[in-house]
Amino acid sequence: MSEPPPDNLVQPFQIESMAAQGRLVRLGDAVQAVVTAHDYPADVARVLGEAEAIAAVIAGTLKFDGVMTFQVKGDGPVNMLVVDVSSDGALRGYAQFSEEKLAATSAGTGAIAGPQQDVPRLFGSGYLVLTVDQGPDTQRYQGIVPLKGATLTDCAHTYFRQSVQLEAVLKVAVDRVADADGVLRWRAGALILQKLEQRGIQQQSGDDQDLDSDDSWRRAVALLGSCTSAELLDPSLHPNDLLYRLFNEDGVRAFDPSPLAMRCRCSRDRVENVLRSFPRTEITDMKIGDDVVVTCEFCNESYIFGPVEIDAMYEGDEA
Ligand SMILES: [Zn+2]
Repeated sequence: MSEPPPDNLVQPFQIESMAAQGRLVRLGDAVQAVVTAHDYPADVARVLGEAEAIAAVIAGTLKFDGVMTFQVKGDGPVNMLVVDVSSDGALRGYAQFSEEKLAATSAGTGAIAGPQQDVPRLFGSGYLVLTVDQGPDTQRYQGIVPLKGATLTDCAHTYFRQSVQLEAVLKVAVDRVADADGVLRWRAGALILQKLEQRGIQQQSGDDQDLDSDDSWRRAVALLGSCTSAELLDPSLHPNDLLYRLFNEDGVRAFDPSPLAMRCRCSRDRVENVLRSFPRTEITDMKIGDDVVVTCEFCNESYIFGPVEIDAMYEGDEA
């Protein structure tokens, strides 16, 4: 039996004849693990998967050493969605939503409404916030755009135009796909193309060159548009085979892929440090029975601190 194609990765590539570069993102377990950690309803799982794919694609276009956070805040049934990606490929996410509001918006539309109006229906009005944090003593980058468009992918396009002046097109797919055993599991895929400045190899007059560059960019965008959601999501289709299928006539070159995985950065030590930053009286208010229980919003892991541990945490402090 042949090996299954690589999954959970960012595959950078360049189209030789088109002055365009791009990235293909394939996510299998990395999406499924986030969804199952919380047992999210399908509507929430879908926007979370879409956000993961978009975050992975954007992280690939930025050069940073740290964590990039993709956050959506709205006044709809899903009031908060957070995905973060570290420069070493750890991906995680969670969503906060109101079950009643979600049920009300899905009423009468059948099991799962389509993604066509996800932003107005699930998020309402609000903002998309992108933050890059490269640790202490560095300047935090933050870009904010209002939620405008039908899908998070539309909002990402607004972000490219308004916040980073990037000429780019993005295609995203997210859905449940049957695996080899016939079990439905969430997957997401994304394909982005970025226009590169013409490097002045041709010594033509400026106008002609601009025309060439615009024509080839339009062709690249049309080819990206021909990529189907099924192709973006198909776990049996090798990422390089998909790129070849789409762009081979124009000379596509794939670079080394980087792996992505659902991995949470929470730990008992980190939680303890956070708890210690509060006065003891506030910690006491958080008690369930005798214990203080802190649950990570990203991975749903619970950290339990008993009375002896809490005493030890505040040892030396005034009682
Ligand atoms: Zn966690």
